[in-house]
Amino acid sequence: MKTMEAEIITIGTELLLGELIDTNTRKIAYALRDIGLDLYRTSTVGDNAERIAQAIRESISRAQVVITTGGLGPTVDDATREGVALAFGVPTEYQPELWEQIQERFERFGRTPTENNRRQAFIPRGATAIENPIGTAPGFMMDEEEGVVIALPGVPAEMQYLLESVVLPFLRQRLKLNETIKTRLLRTSGVGESWLDDHIHDLERLHNPTVGLAAHPGRVDIRITAKAETSEEAESMIEQISSTIHDRLGDAIYGIDDASLEKVALDSVTEHGWRLAILESGTGGVIAAGFSDQGSSFAGGQVLPHADLARDLGKALSDLQEELSAQVGLALTLRTEGERHIADVILRTPYGEERLERSYGGPPTYAAVWALSLAANLIRRRLS
Ligand code: ATP
Repeated sequence: MKTMEAEIITIGTELLLGELIDTNTRKIAYALRDIGLDLYRTSTVGDNAERIAQAIRESISRAQVVITTGGLGPTVDDATREGVALAFGVPTEYQPELWEQIQERFERFGRTPTENNRRQAFIPRGATAIENPIGTAPGFMMDEEEGVVIALPGVPAEMQYLLESVVLPFLRQRLKLNETIKTRLLRTSGVGESWLDDHIHDLERLHNPTVGLAAHPGRVDIRITAKAETSEEAESMIEQISSTIHDRLGDAIYGIDDASLEKVALDSVTEHGWRLAILESGTGGVIAAGFSDQGSSFAGGQVLPHADLARDLGKALSDLQEELSAQVGLALTLRTEGERHIADVILRTPYGEERLERSYGGPPTYAAVWALSLAANLIRRRLS
C-alpha cells in the first residue's frame, strides 16, 4: 500500500547537463518538512515528455504526492504538460479561461503573447490550473485516485510563490496533515565527528526526535529533528534533547541554526572592547576574508608569502598588531607534511600568548577552510 509521502521531480535538461543548480528541490523539501509530509525520494529528468511520463508513473506508484518543477514554458521543449497527460493516459485540453488569464498577464507586463504562449493554456484533461500571478507559466494539479501530481513552474520565485500560496494550504487540507516537523542545528567546532559520536551515540538511535551529525571542515553540526502535532510540542521535544546534548558537550557548541563561528569569535573580541588582527600564510587569505564582514572589531589581516615564513612570526605578529592597534592577534601558517596539513598558530591576547600546532588529514581543497575554523574556534574558546 502507498504511504503518505511525497516525491519531487525537477524537469530540465539544463539540470542534467550540470548547467543549472537545482535549488527548487531544496526549497520544496524544506516546505514539506514544515507541513510534516515525508519526502523519501527526489529525481531529475530532461525536457522529454516520455521520460517525464515514466518518472511520474514511477513516483506515483510509490508516493501519494508528486511535485514537479519546470517545463511549463511556451516552447516545444517545455514538455511537462504532455508528460503528465501521458502518465495518466489522458489528452491535454485547451482551457479558454487560462488563455485569457495569460493574455491579461502579458498585457499587464506590457508585452504581447505569441501564438506559442497558447500552448500554456493546454493542461491535461482533469487537471485544475494554478494561476500564476507573478509570471506567465501557469501550473496545474491532477488529483486522481492514483495520487496527486502538482506541476509548478521552474523559475524559483514563481515556484516558491505558488508553493506557499496554493500548494501547501491545499496539501495540508487534502491530506489532513496535522503534524509538523521542526529542526534545530547545534553547531560545534574543535571536536571531531568520532568524539561526538562517542558522547551522543545513544541519542543518534532515537526515532523521534532524531539526532544526526554532518561534518564540515573543522566543524560538525548536530541536527535534531522532531515531529509533533504542534510546533510548540516539536520545539519542546527538541529543547529536551538539546539541553541533554549541551550538558554532555559543553562549550564545544558555539551556536545554533545559522550561527556563524567567525561572528561568534569576533563578538567575543568585541565584548572585551578589543580588536583583532590576522597574519596568515599558505591559506590564500581565507582567514582574514572569513572575519572581514563579521564586525568592526576586525582590524585587518596580512597574507605572508611562503618565502617569508623564515621570519620570526611572533615578531611579525607584534608589528601587525601594533600597526592596526589590535589587542588580539592570531598568526597561522599552513604547510604540508606528506599527506597532512599542519597549522602552526600563535594566538596573542591581553591574557597571554599560546603557541600550538594542529594537523588536518582531510581533502586538501578544504585545508584552508579548516584553518579558518581552527582560528575562529581558538579565539572563541580563549575569550568567551
Ligand atoms: P517559464 O515559462 O517561466 O520559463 P518553466 O516552467 O518552463 O517556466 P523552465 O523553462 O523549466 O521553467 O525553467 C525556467 C528557468 O527557471 C530556468 O532557466 C532556470 O533559470 C530556472 N529553474 C528551472 N528549474 C530549476 C530548478 N530546479 N532549480 C533552480 N532553478 C530552476
